[in-house]
Amino acid sequence: MLDLPPFIAFSAVIFVGLVFGSFATALIYRVPRNISWWSVSSRKQDAVRSACTHCGKNLKPIDLIPLFSWLFNVGKCRYCHAPISLTYPLAEFMNCMAVLGVYAVYGLSYEALFIMAVIPLLVALFFIDIETMRLPDQLVLISGIIGLFYVAFLLYSAPSIHEMKMVLSMKAAGFFVYGALIWGLGKITSFVLKKPSLGFGDVKFYLVAGLWLGIDFIPVYMILCGICGIVFGLFYTRIYKTKFFPFGPAIILSLYICFILQGAGFHFLGYN
Ligand SMILES: [Zn+2]
Repeated sequence: MLDLPPFIAFSAVIFVGLVFGSFATALIYRVPRNISWWSVSSRKQDAVRSACTHCGKNLKPIDLIPLFSWLFNVGKCRYCHAPISLTYPLAEFMNCMAVLGVYAVYGLSYEALFIMAVIPLLVALFFIDIETMRLPDQLVLISGIIGLFYVAFLLYSAPSIHEMKMVLSMKAAGFFVYGALIWGLGKITSFVLKKPSLGFGDVKFYLVAGLWLGIDFIPVYMILCGICGIVFGLFYTRIYKTKFFPFGPAIILSLYICFILQGAGFHFLGYN
């Protein structure tokens, strides 16, 4: 789409990755606490700017440079020296790496822009689920809405009516089949284990994943979810010394891996 010299494109992607990462950290802090996305406390004049979560001091632009501010201040607030959670720089770093990965396989295409736009939401969901064991509806819903725009774009840019029908049926089938499959699986495991197993937030996320990936990716996506779930569960239960672990991070990471596979040209059921 855009024809930029590689160095400029690369720098722009890193920049966007860090800025979106900073947005992701704002969501990670705000959404579980029911704070509006855009304002700081109720003071209108502080809208958009961020404050230290400990001393409440409004942060200056120099304190808001993604990743670097945290590194320069060795993980502490510059004003009250309260430690700042490692989650925030980690989320910024992950966001940046994820965006770079998309750029590496998709280049600066329109498809890449849609995926880059949903990444901060996925990063936020990833960390929020780790902290609260919940996937907030609003973030899942917005990921789905961006997915709808993405599908609309694919339909618009389809070279023929046949291709258009193909895309539409794949994505719509993905949406319903993923949701039904996981809902059914959840019911069965709950019945067998005699306790609720899969959170309903996970089912909603599967609907969104189905919309983004289409039905042909189901087997690959399910296998990835299983592998990531087991690996993540092992780490999580060790670190937090608990028997339960959130499934969100595994299904989010799997979705991202599928984005990369799709971008690298993997297609199933003869569709591409
Ligand atoms: Zn502070």
